[in-house]
Amino acid sequence: MLSFPSRQLSLASPQCAPVIYSSSLAVSQPLGPYRPTISPLCKPRLRCLTIRSIDAAQPYDYESHLQSKFHRSNSLKIAILGFGNFGQFLAKAFVRQGHTVIAHSRSDYGAVAKRLGVTFYSDLHDLCEQHPEVVVLSTSILSMEKVLRSIPLQRLKRSTLFVDVLSVKEFPRTLFMKVLPDEFDILCTHPMFGPESGKNSWAGLAFVYDKVRIGEDELRINRCEKFLDIFAREGCRMVKMPCSEHDKYAAGSQFITHTMGRMLEKFGLEYTPINTKGYETLLDLVKNTSGDSFDLYYGLFLYNKNALEQLQRLDMAFESLKMELFGNLQQIYRKQLFSDAEEETVQVRWSESRSVAPKLLHEGAPPAAPEAASETVA
Ligand code: NAP
Repeated sequence: MLSFPSRQLSLASPQCAPVIYSSSLAVSQPLGPYRPTISPLCKPRLRCLTIRSIDAAQPYDYESHLQSKFHRSNSLKIAILGFGNFGQFLAKAFVRQGHTVIAHSRSDYGAVAKRLGVTFYSDLHDLCEQHPEVVVLSTSILSMEKVLRSIPLQRLKRSTLFVDVLSVKEFPRTLFMKVLPDEFDILCTHPMFGPESGKNSWAGLAFVYDKVRIGEDELRINRCEKFLDIFAREGCRMVKMPCSEHDKYAAGSQFITHTMGRMLEKFGLEYTPINTKGYETLLDLVKNTSGDSFDLYYGLFLYNKNALEQLQRLDMAFESLKMELFGNLQQIYRKQLFSDAEEETVQVRWSESRSVAPKLLHEGAPPAAPEAASETVA
């Protein structure tokens, strides 16, 4: 949108001319030389032609004003606590959508933040005094309680919206309810993607959320919607789901995915010149999960009560698969063993019948008496 400030035009004419005032920018075409007819009674004024546009409410100004007002009303001031891998990943999208982003973390991310268009505060009190409308906790699962309890809540606006993006959901929900005063709003979320899986686009990727406590005030409802809208506008598949249900599903899917990825990483998958599609999926899985910290994986295990059961199921499934394989192998081995034994017995009978020197059986044991041998065969 173009916005023209009121301006002053002045055309210096080689000829002397009277002063012409213009109140609009419409007089912008070049003017030809002006030759006034000077009455002999009038004393000519020796001043240069000047065209001026005085201040006037321009339609452009009005529109741009409206636009910036609209933009301001839609943008949020968002504070991110925990500016590591995932915090930075989120910040990029928030900034891209025109929100004001401020951040704090245990380590100093001042330089990174500057590059991303984020204001970094190494002091949490300073950040809170900026009165963000939304505070997003993007710390590790293991450190969430410590970080939440260290926030000087008294420095924030009383109805601040608290959001978490932890990969487990019941734990932050319980903690928020315990620590935050009733005036604060609570939204628990889990973007089901990360810097690797969502590096190109978030379109179609699931975003799980649970509006745990949102005040009835229209402003508070709108603020929560505006925050959710960030993900909807990126094309996420918005999934409203209670925290407990999320944890049940996530233990059986996300935790198992991370476990397999980590196992295969330890196993040491390597690129081969004859990779199948399936094998490449495994290589991708290792790549996807290896970028995440062990803290994250450990948090998935420790703070999701369903994770242990899923790990045991995985263990049992592996055992049962091995039994299936070894069971088949045993049958083949037995068959061979028995057919060898049959052949051996036949040979013993044959040698007995021909009264040749008896053969030694396994481990040097003497051959059984003919009656016993026939018993064995029977
Ligand atoms: P992470 O290892 O889970 O967390 C790293 C963040 O936690 C950093 O900001 C780090 O701060 C902070 N932190 C760790 N220990 C701390 C402590 N003792 N005190 C204060 N801060 C501490 O890795 P992440 O990938 O960035 O994940 C952040 C959150 O997003 C996690 O809760 C995770 O479950 C969630 N999440 C991650 C993904 C993903 O794909 N990565 C996807 C969805 C949700 P410093 O860097 O300043 O040390």
